[in-house]
Amino acid sequence: MRTLLRSSLRHLAARRAHYSDASKVKRHLLSRIYQPGNRWMENSPEIQAKSNEPSSKSQRLLYKAGLIRPASPGCFHYLPHTVRSMEKLILVIDRAMQEVGGQKIDMPTLCSAALWRQSGRWDLVGTELLCLTDRHNREYCLGPTHEEAVTDLVGTEGGISYKQLPLLLYQITRKFRDEKRPCFGLLRGREFYMKDMYTFDINEEAAYQTYNNVCDAYSNIFSTLDLKHVKVQADTGNIGGKMSHEFHLPASIGEDRLLVCGTCDFAANVETLHPDEENCPSCRGQLTESKGIEIGHTFYLGTKYSHIFNAVCIDAENKPVVAEMGCYGIGVSRLLAASLEVLSTEEDLHWPNLIAPYQICLIPPKKGSKEMAASFVAEELYDDICTIPCMRNEAVLDDRVHLTIGKRVMEAHLLGYPYVIVIGKKALESPPMFEVQNHRTGEVQFLSKEGVLSFIQDVPVI
Ligand SMILES: [Zn+2]
Repeated sequence: MRTLLRSSLRHLAARRAHYSDASKVKRHLLSRIYQPGNRWMENSPEIQAKSNEPSSKSQRLLYKAGLIRPASPGCFHYLPHTVRSMEKLILVIDRAMQEVGGQKIDMPTLCSAALWRQSGRWDLVGTELLCLTDRHNREYCLGPTHEEAVTDLVGTEGGISYKQLPLLLYQITRKFRDEKRPCFGLLRGREFYMKDMYTFDINEEAAYQTYNNVCDAYSNIFSTLDLKHVKVQADTGNIGGKMSHEFHLPASIGEDRLLVCGTCDFAANVETLHPDEENCPSCRGQLTESKGIEIGHTFYLGTKYSHIFNAVCIDAENKPVVAEMGCYGIGVSRLLAASLEVLSTEEDLHWPNLIAPYQICLIPPKKGSKEMAASFVAEELYDDICTIPCMRNEAVLDDRVHLTIGKRVMEAHLLGYPYVIVIGKKALESPPMFEVQNHRTGEVQFLSKEGVLSFIQDVPVI
């Protein structure tokens, strides 16, 4: 009797300890996450009028899942799941940029018209600029890129010492472009997130080295996200410069036409070739056409801007040398949408796993169902998952137990969590078994609690 009592007391103490641990866990409950429904679509004459216009898969699925909402043409509210994913994507990009020596800065959105007139781009870019005037009659544009601003910043500093070279400055901020016809949701907006980097070197050779390093970093970012991409030779457009490349995700919805060589690794945007070109200019192999969504663009600028704004490097002999520059963009919100575009099915979102809003969605039994006795096991499993350090904030509990398991599983797959764990009938067995669904492969396996925890330990997270 005494031993029995002692052992049950010990058991109780252990349980209490478990709960005091668990109380420290901040639960991510789906019922608490702001994810408005789609009633706005029914009430929006503008959306209805546009329902015949082409839309994109990512746009349709993001609307359906309640993850973004249009505010005005080409401008969107990013809702909590989308922001989580964006923040992870930014982390991936930050790491890659800092790996090649990038230093993060943050420049004003309001860009002085005077600087843009000095570079000649005020009129060149023209109607694509969103412009405004302040109370003192000073003119600005809402920055689409920051070549003028950053070169002026560096230029007024009197020169970069050769000891500081190469200098790589970048930012991830909102950018603006007055698109005539914004479309495809986050793929072609008027207000969007962009990573823009600007580099300064003392001579061409060093600048080409920097250019190649940043291009390699771009390829690493897309590979980290498991995205098939092509790097193509591109036109320098209104940014200017001597050499340029674009990075594309091949997709039928893409607005750029690419020619890719089947023999060597030559690839180019059609714009840069003669209209009748059928053979690869480097190996004469057959070129095939495909379509791509542009997600990154790099430019070797030379001294185009540094000359105008007097950005110089100071060499070892203390002499000023006009800086050789490069600029490098990644459309961050576009990359997010483009990856959804190429990975998703018609029915369900698929994110690059690393940047999915949450890695895991747990679905406990429906209230009032036979399986309801397993609710307790579900919460315990959730809290145990959260004690794995890398999973602390990566699991969401779908506590909307008034809904059937089936309905919630369907929604979980629409949202695209990489792993969905269902706490159903088998959770009542001894030991309890849990159904783990792999969203990408469709694979389903039944695991014990220990099995789930060891499986989850190996899920890669950022
Ligand atoms: Zn070739």
